[in-house]
Amino acid sequence: MLKKALLLSSFILIFIMGLVGCSTDESENGSEGDKLQVVTTYSILYDIVKNVGGDQVEVHSMVPIGANPHEFDPLPSDVEKTQDADAVFYNGLNLEAGNSWFSKLLETTGKSGEDAPVFRLSEGVEVKYLTTAGKENESDPHAWLDVRNGIIYAENARDALKQVDPDHAEIYDANAATYIAQLEELHQQAVDRFNEIPKEDRFLVTSEGAFKYFSAAYDFDAGYVWEINAENQGTPSQVSAIVDLIREREVPVLFLETSIDPRSMETVSNETGVPIFGKVFTDSVGKPGEDGDTYIEMMEWNIDMIYNGVTSK
Ligand SMILES: [Zn+2]
Repeated sequence: MLKKALLLSSFILIFIMGLVGCSTDESENGSEGDKLQVVTTYSILYDIVKNVGGDQVEVHSMVPIGANPHEFDPLPSDVEKTQDADAVFYNGLNLEAGNSWFSKLLETTGKSGEDAPVFRLSEGVEVKYLTTAGKENESDPHAWLDVRNGIIYAENARDALKQVDPDHAEIYDANAATYIAQLEELHQQAVDRFNEIPKEDRFLVTSEGAFKYFSAAYDFDAGYVWEINAENQGTPSQVSAIVDLIREREVPVLFLETSIDPRSMETVSNETGVPIFGKVFTDSVGKPGEDGDTYIEMMEWNIDMIYNGVTSK
């Protein structure tokens, strides 16, 4: 009897809501419109924000997986989603600055004001600077390659989501706590693993010099063909400088980033006779279902690959 009455009353309710139309749509539960609409500039931030936001957020990431976030041309759909977003997340530290694509996007979408819900996830990390002559005042953006900075990113994502969506603060706190615990464990595993390698063997060669933060965290030295994407990449003088360094340090292997044109590293390999040991992830996670398809997976992959490479002598 009670069940029947409930069924009938919910039927009437649905009928009334139908008549009222979509005016209550957004505030009722269960609909897509209920989720917080979030935009991130690239895939690594997508994954971190998704872990903290969980089911409460719908995240759109702009720079495609495997592409270079230093320079990008947003699509019309990126513009639209940024315009409608409840929160926008970016890395900062000059990452999305290559062709000013991100600052232009914020202007276009009316999100360049001081109180716009736009959040820099690298806020609070200890910044490292470029070393190339004339660029010493420019930040190196690759802070996420130190897992301790990944924790700072997750904390910033949590605080931002709580700010724009205080009703679900407890969920964001709980998600962030679980995720940060995983990151703390990952960092400790990396430290323990790399501590097995003698200091003189901890030398890492990649195309872009993206490993400053990583090197500081895990006590490596790093060599590269060019210091940062969006400048001259793989010029003859850059190639000859890294070739000399590889010979001097007797480096056993080279690494190639998934988001970088392989040709420069192939040239370096041919000139030195030192093999490319494998791929590492720097500016992008892997494709869904493939290697390194989350921030944690890509860092685990890098740790394994680098450990195996530098100990392969
Ligand atoms: Zn980069």
